[in-house]
Amino acid sequence: MLIKEEKLLFKDFPNLNCPNCTKGILRIVDDTKILKYPSKLRLLPDEPSFYYDPDGNEHRRTCIDDVEAAQKQEYITTFFLECPRTQCLEMISTCGKLRYDTEVFPDEDLNAVYDTQLYYYPKFFYPHINLFIIPIKTPRVIVDQMAEAFSLFWTSPSACGNSIRKCVERIIDEIDAPPTSYVKYKN
Ligand SMILES: [Zn+2]
Repeated sequence: MLIKEEKLLFKDFPNLNCPNCTKGILRIVDDTKILKYPSKLRLLPDEPSFYYDPDGNEHRRTCIDDVEAAQKQEYITTFFLECPRTQCLEMISTCGKLRYDTEVFPDEDLNAVYDTQLYYYPKFFYPHINLFIIPIKTPRVIVDQMAEAFSLFWTSPSACGNSIRKCVERIIDEIDAPPTSYVKYKN
């Protein structure tokens, strides 16, 4: 699978290829899912309550039910992914954030349709997930550099970009490309 976004649909998890055998499609191990509210939500009361300001006006405190009813909750989460191939059975640990996002798209009459889904924002996969399939004959030095870029993609896009630059340098080394000045001279 080609990954296009930094978030993944949680309910219908995308088909991620196993980084070990490259053939298996990773599946979430259900009994390893742990979802916890962050501090800002854990500190909210369970039930609605009221208070009065100095002028005697009544105010309602936000409670966790309000957040859940509006689908504004988010979770800090961890779970395992597993390769189902019996000759592989690789396990991948991951951690990140779950959050509801609303996507807007047009229907047949071009009216706006709102679709709210729970998305997973990964921060880390170990072992790393391949963002695309690397051709088998790719030299080891390039594969290793791509692996570093893949592992940094979720936590630090800028560091990932730097790794991709190094990868391009390794490719230039491998194909023994002429120096830039020579190319300019020829043109
Ligand atoms: Zn596998």
